[in-house]
Amino acid sequence: MAEINKKLLDDCAKCGSCKARCPVYDITRNEGFSPRGRIVLLKGIFSGGTVQAGPPAIRRLMSCALCGLCDNTCPVGIKPTEIIYQGRAALRGADRGRLLLRTALRFGLRSPGAALGAARIFPGLAQRVLPGVKTLPRRTLRNGGQVIKPANRKSAGRVAVFAGCSTNYLMPETGESLIGMLLALGYEVILPHGEVCCGSPLRALGLEEEARNFALKNIEVFGKMNVEAVVSPCPTCTLVIREHYRHLTGAAVRNAMDAVEFLSGKLDAGAGRKTASERLVWHEPCHLRHGLGFDPQGLLNLLNIEKGDDGCCGLGLSLTDRGLSQEMLRRKTEAYQGRGRVVTACPGCMLQLRRGGLETVHILELMEEAFFPAAEV
Ligand code: SF4
Ligand code: SF4
Repeated sequence: MAEINKKLLDDCAKCGSCKARCPVYDITRNEGFSPRGRIVLLKGIFSGGTVQAGPPAIRRLMSCALCGLCDNTCPVGIKPTEIIYQGRAALRGADRGRLLLRTALRFGLRSPGAALGAARIFPGLAQRVLPGVKTLPRRTLRNGGQVIKPANRKSAGRVAVFAGCSTNYLMPETGESLIGMLLALGYEVILPHGEVCCGSPLRALGLEEEARNFALKNIEVFGKMNVEAVVSPCPTCTLVIREHYRHLTGAAVRNAMDAVEFLSGKLDAGAGRKTASERLVWHEPCHLRHGLGFDPQGLLNLLNIEKGDDGCCGLGLSLTDRGLSQEMLRRKTEAYQGRGRVVTACPGCMLQLRRGGLETVHILELMEEAFFPAAEV
């Protein structure tokens, strides 16, 4: 059995402050399904030998949504998600039920384009793996190694885009909005050759070594680029390449930034048109607000987007605990019903919310409409 950083387990004072924010504990009301409960469980397995690494322990460990809501609550500075990632890696051998899923993910993420081709041939399978996707797009964003220059104006600088798998293969229109706005602001945009999956789904399943290999590839491509920022339309990708990579490799893409945050700092608020009369409600991605610490309230006011319901949509559980994932989605669907299109800043949240029958749009597309109605890729 692989080891875990026992100091992290020992540092926990068992105060329970982290429990108050946990959406899974909120549903289950069971200590074993809280961040503190999972830490105590791992301590029992790895320090005392008092707990067996059997199915009940695995169930509790895999029931974490990896939302990170508990990470900013600890008075001694512990980040429970990091302990949970380590626990999943250390106990992956004991989790035999997900062997096939791990194998499929390992191969699928190595070559997402080919996996998508297979999904087109077997639409039934695609619906099971990508439940929020009604039709698979024929085009992708990825163009490999291109530098796109703004037309007829002096360059304002250079940025690179880390598109992420969802934007590259499932929602290229979001990436096109991002690129269109960067060009309209005068930026040269680099879409480098060699971007791979950020590795987040691999790490969620305890495939630490495989996630590390992906991290090293992305750090090689993006880590030393001479650009103002590496921007991404996916806050999970940004969080992973900027923060999680440090735990995996000791290095990271330090200038990674969420695209909405980057653009918010560049746009002239006075130049934006309010979005038309349509009713819109905001779904806050956990990794944007609590992981990256960006609050887009000013932008929401400007675009006439109503504040939505705070909390996790359950996407992070879609591979590891379908029942809890569905319950979290049900709560979101209920909270947003009848409040118009759901606006968010995360392609992953969009997939999950669409699975619940909600109509969604990425805020980058609304920003493009409001600030640059004529912007083109
Ligand atoms: S990451 Fe989210 S689901 Fe997991 S323990 Fe923390 S608050 Fe609970
Ligand atoms: S808040 Fe920190 S110290 Fe308290 S139980 Fe949670 S992880 Fe342990």
